[in-house]
Amino acid sequence: MQIFKKKNALIHCLSLLKEKNKLIGFVPTMGALHKGHQSLVKNSIENNDVTVVSIFVNPTQFNNPDDLKKYPKTLKEDLELLENIGCDFVFIPTVEEIYAQAVVSKSYSFDGIENQMEGKFRKGHFDGVATIVQAFFEIIKPDTSYFGEKDFQQLQVVKKLTEKENIPVKVIGCPIYRENDGLAMSSRNIRLSKEQRSEAPFIYQTLKKVVGFAKTKSVKDMYEFVKNEFATTSLELEYFTIAEENTLAEVSEINFDKKNRAFIAVNIGGIRLIDNISL
Ligand code: AMP
Repeated sequence: MQIFKKKNALIHCLSLLKEKNKLIGFVPTMGALHKGHQSLVKNSIENNDVTVVSIFVNPTQFNNPDDLKKYPKTLKEDLELLENIGCDFVFIPTVEEIYAQAVVSKSYSFDGIENQMEGKFRKGHFDGVATIVQAFFEIIKPDTSYFGEKDFQQLQVVKKLTEKENIPVKVIGCPIYRENDGLAMSSRNIRLSKEQRSEAPFIYQTLKKVVGFAKTKSVKDMYEFVKNEFATTSLELEYFTIAEENTLAEVSEINFDKKNRAFIAVNIGGIRLIDNISL
């Protein structure tokens, strides 16, 4: 496994492989890798000749400075994990290497997808995500990139980004990887106290109940149900939304001819956890 800190060295190495028509798969991450990340990397390894993983905590997608400061960093373990599963290249640039001039986002419009849910609660978040993903796509020029459905809205934003900016990269969504008790794996889970960790599976348990109700209860009743469920816990419900998968527009009634998903964001003692489920 080769580690790159400088983009020009990576660009040079990849250009030699591209001349030989090698397929390049790319998995962007912010590190503190877990089995969810691992499933994306494995998917890339199985379907490409060369897999590039980036580890970069992108400052422009954090609207909360404290969240950025406390973002877990486990580089040594990350590199071991990547080496063990057969990753080829790891790209670990500094902030200066990526944002030479100024640490700012570009402004994008993604037909409103970016304004729903996470977009409402994390102002500027998707501009930051799109800025870094576009920068990485320009450096790596992968054939295919892999994103988790755990961040479903991000996945849809990245698909829109490639469409709008005419970027010839295939974007593949990978299923959410969960702990045995159902909690969606997340780098932020490391920060949960023992007590918070034991409460967190309630998020997925509630989502599963919603799936059970989808054919019998109205959307309004499901919203009410979720609100009441969380009111009995110390988990603070930030949003619960049922939306159509492609537009991410909130629905007032479920149309089963379309794909719908329930999305949730919860705050546990300053740690934000998100999850979603297909209805
Ligand atoms: P992050 O390091 O949190 O930016 O995540 C990097 C990629 O891994 C993103 O595409 C995430 O959606 C994906 N990912 C994170 N957690 C999971 C999970 N539990 N299951 C599947 N994919 C995930």
